[in-house]
Amino acid sequence: MSGPRYERTKRQDQRLVGFECQSCGWVSFPEEKRTCKRCGDAPADFEAVQLAERGTVETFVVQQYLPEDIETPQPVAVVSLPQASGAGEAARAYGLLTETHLAELDVGTEVEARFRELFSDGRRPINSLKFAVPRASKAGGEE
Ligand SMILES: [Zn+2]
Repeated sequence: MSGPRYERTKRQDQRLVGFECQSCGWVSFPEEKRTCKRCGDAPADFEAVQLAERGTVETFVVQQYLPEDIETPQPVAVVSLPQASGAGEAARAYGLLTETHLAELDVGTEVEARFRELFSDGRRPINSLKFAVPRASKAGGEE
């Protein structure tokens, strides 16, 4: 589906690594857990799996009342991110929606993962995962 694009955005995709429970198939994201959240296997045997950079909105909330210096309304979504291979289960990622109009947002809307480097702790960058509705004008031509 997104083969060529996948190669071009490898650096970004390296952050889209989920961990699949080898007992039940549940995919943990972003961290590898010691105990599987679904089957309770402990210590769980997780295997790293590459996630696709596009997924669909499973559910979302729109935050309306936030401190003054934070832009509102601010939508936050749980996004179902399939595995890049197309096999297995999708991971559920939680993140803010950015560059997205509320009118285009619904359950099932396709969104793209975006990373923003928040700051560096001196050793490695601290990233934040956000999602945005892909722009048709940019499709395939970004970066
Ligand atoms: Zn499990």
